[in-house]
Amino acid sequence: MTAVRALDHLTIDPDHAWDAVVKHDRRFDGRFVYAVRTTGVYCRPSCASRRPNRRNVHFFSDPDAAEAQGFRACLRCRPRGVAAEDADLRAVRLASRTLDARLDAPPTLAELGTAVGLSPWHLQRVFKRVVGVSPREWVEARRVERLKSGLREGQTVSRAVYAAGYGSGRPVYERARSPLGMTPATYRRGGRGLSIRYAVVASPLGRLLVAATERGVCSVRLGEDDPALEAGLRAEFPEARLAADPEGVGAWAHEIVRHLEGETPRADVPLDVRATAFQWRVWSALRAIPMGQTRSYAEVARAVGAPRGARAVAQACAANPVALVVPCHRVVRGDGELGGYKWGARRKVVLLEQERRRAEKVETDALRGLVGRRAAEPARLVPPAGAPGIGEVIAGRYELRRHVGTGGMGVVYEARDRVLDESVALKLLRADLPLSDEGIGQVVAEVRLTRRITHPNVVRTHDVGMAGDARFLVMEYVDGVSLADLLARHGRLPVPAAVVVGMQLCRALNVVHGRGVLHRDVKPQNILLTAEGQVKLADFGVASLRDAAGAAAPGMTTPGTPPYMAPELLFGDPADARTDLFAAGVVLHQALTGRLPFEGSTPTELAARMLRGGPLPVASDASVPKQLAELLASVLAAEPRERPRSAAAFHDALAVIAMW
Ligand SMILES: [Zn+2]
Repeated sequence: MTAVRALDHLTIDPDHAWDAVVKHDRRFDGRFVYAVRTTGVYCRPSCASRRPNRRNVHFFSDPDAAEAQGFRACLRCRPRGVAAEDADLRAVRLASRTLDARLDAPPTLAELGTAVGLSPWHLQRVFKRVVGVSPREWVEARRVERLKSGLREGQTVSRAVYAAGYGSGRPVYERARSPLGMTPATYRRGGRGLSIRYAVVASPLGRLLVAATERGVCSVRLGEDDPALEAGLRAEFPEARLAADPEGVGAWAHEIVRHLEGETPRADVPLDVRATAFQWRVWSALRAIPMGQTRSYAEVARAVGAPRGARAVAQACAANPVALVVPCHRVVRGDGELGGYKWGARRKVVLLEQERRRAEKVETDALRGLVGRRAAEPARLVPPAGAPGIGEVIAGRYELRRHVGTGGMGVVYEARDRVLDESVALKLLRADLPLSDEGIGQVVAEVRLTRRITHPNVVRTHDVGMAGDARFLVMEYVDGVSLADLLARHGRLPVPAAVVVGMQLCRALNVVHGRGVLHRDVKPQNILLTAEGQVKLADFGVASLRDAAGAAAPGMTTPGTPPYMAPELLFGDPADARTDLFAAGVVLHQALTGRLPFEGSTPTELAARMLRGGPLPVASDASVPKQLAELLASVLAAEPRERPRSAAAFHDALAVIAMW
């Protein structure tokens, strides 16, 4: 073959093409690909890899033409990914984003067409084909959706209505119920003209006073003796008529005691409390902290969108009139100290310890028995031909004891670390992986970052090294089974188990994201469960290793695992923490239903399904709670910004469901 023949079908001249490559110009993606003779790899014009020497570059009209000449697809830019295959799909995605950004004043079809580079007529047609509804119907549906989620997040109603793009929100306002069960203040400070009834009952934390108006609970106080509690209530509402009413208020008091005794995940009583807009936001955020967890004042401040407001958050906590119902005891100081509590530091200690134990029990109960008794030691699988045999010692230190498996990247053994005298997992990478020095450098850096992480839900990476001409990774040896094996055996997991697996997976992601590392290949094969009922996420750094390989060696598995890849990955856009959350959502969906949320035989088909959204299979599964199905729908949103903002946020939403 010659370069000239390869260029025959190009609709662009080579100098222009080269210019596009030099500028990484996205607009040329899908119009041609370039191949590099020295590496044997072909890329899309926008590929971020190092600029090749012009002399070694060939241009082809499409991936098929490049592959016919023996070139392999680049794993970094994935020239066979969505963008190269279907420009329409990319345009639809851009159009839906543009509409989302302008729900309050949507562009006309003509304006939208101009923005995405399609004629209005063509845009209308492809939008409907891909998404299933017209751009105008999309806007309507999104407004309703956004309104609902805004209310769930605890915005004030008027703000939610405004943010949802409704000019006048009156009809919605009338229908809306606030997430806290709070109604706008019905009384003035001091409670003038108000009739308040109260009851004092015994609780695990001492005497408990609960006071209520006609509309709901207005005060919850803890103390040692009844007269002092009553005096406190009198001081809070000096101008109200107070009357003891053990019968009337008793049911609500009982509800709070039941919560304290660990029988309910939260004290669910209607509230009637005065609050400023800021206090309302803080208290709503406190209600979202799951039992067994704590947050610092600064974290709560960030959660309510006031990153500098830690002091104001502390004041709002101190002003909380309904102890326990709004769990202000779950906020602690950033330095790990418990911080103050209006009802006594000792009560706070007891309360937090009780809650921590209860949450832990919920998790172990859900996972216990899942892995079951360990099967007898599996037969000693014979390592593939050419791989080191059992008994060989790698790098003078790791003695190979058992062949565990063989994958696209290499061979995995259980080995004995002779220095530390402990079992480790050793992954020997194929010697023929085309790794660049730059790629290796990145992998080593990531392994260094993750090896410092000691977390119960993260499989530790101990070492990277060379054995002959092959690289190896040494990891913590986990005695357990993969989620993939469990699902193959049982089809799906019980709902509580699936939720707890999701929570622990989120904790692993949270700690690793905190170090600035993404996993990028979360899937059931990488999630291990121990017999003790603990989830461990494995294979950090491996995804970047594969990317660094730059090309698929013959017989190597496909880049990424498409059903778990978020749209941004399929489109070749930058990934962030929410990309891992999407994958975690796919895993959870699969664990709950035994089915993938999106199916498609090509990346384009998959991406189209993801963009289309709509009800997931989990929505029609009667065994899955509605709240959980809704959470999954948000995690699996095509747009990252519609997903939970962090692994911690996803975790907490799951925890609330787990405790329910
Ligand atoms: Zn590339």
